[in-house]
Amino acid sequence: MRALQIVCSLGHVATTDELFRRGISAREIRAALQSGHIARAARGSYVCAHADAEQRQAAALHAQIACVSAVHRFGVWSGVDSALHLMRPADARGGGPITRPSTDQSGRDLHFHGATPRFARPGQSWMVDPLEAVWQAIHCLDEENAIACLESARHLKFITPTELRRLCVLAPARLQPGIREMEDTADSGLETLVRRRLRHHGFTVVAQGQVGTFAGSIREDLVVDDCVALEIDGRQWHGAARLGSDYDRDLMVEGLGRRTLRLSYRHVMFEWATTLATIERTVADARRVRDRRRGRRIDGQNEPWW
Ligand SMILES: [Zn+2]
Ligand SMILES: [Zn+2]
Repeated sequence: MRALQIVCSLGHVATTDELFRRGISAREIRAALQSGHIARAARGSYVCAHADAEQRQAAALHAQIACVSAVHRFGVWSGVDSALHLMRPADARGGGPITRPSTDQSGRDLHFHGATPRFARPGQSWMVDPLEAVWQAIHCLDEENAIACLESARHLKFITPTELRRLCVLAPARLQPGIREMEDTADSGLETLVRRRLRHHGFTVVAQGQVGTFAGSIREDLVVDDCVALEIDGRQWHGAARLGSDYDRDLMVEGLGRRTLRLSYRHVMFEWATTLATIERTVADARRVRDRRRGRRIDGQNEPWW
């Protein structure tokens, strides 16, 4: 089935124009529809059985998956917004009045972006171009999540370094101080959030600290005030298979005398006040232990006691 193959190759959603451009005739499209290989999502828009709910929703509205919803599909940091963000191109087919429902059939919120893209790149029929998606996302997200989105998009190669620089130059003024603090050290958006929050709180935070051991060196996500290691478990990055080696690493780091705290998505996104209090307490304790080991007085004065 050529029509099905083309629909699949385009990401499981295709328009009549896309199929025509690839040499599929109207008769072949009709045959594919009749045999059930593809289904009509809306006039001039087709999906195969592999299309997911977001793709079907976008196709049904002649819209493209956009903004945080587009970057999320590639694992790029997208904050906590659960709405489906869509862009309906100005030249969208389908005729009739533009329908912009506020929720989909399952009750999920729909958020529509303006029809005029910032960058002259069409993207796919069902999803905006990556550069456009990140541009939209940094406008929809609050400051810290927007910065985490930029770092994450670069880290995962969703956009190129040149595209990142372009976005940073054009980004709104509210993001410029955060842009100046950006690094290319974070494995996940969650790690970006923790690093920035702790630095703004006054801690010295070094990303990707190396701890030497007799068995080689171990990489730690973040090291706070040179005495407490933080391992950040980005929700989608640490599967059960990694847990074993994570435990091994914790044990080795502890064996070297450095405290380790392991933070989950929930600790950072929903329980930050408690998490921060725990980090502060742990760092204060670790500093006291370190100072005692170094032979310093523990009342805060740094002169040797002898
Ligand atoms: Zn398919
Ligand atoms: Zn948006």
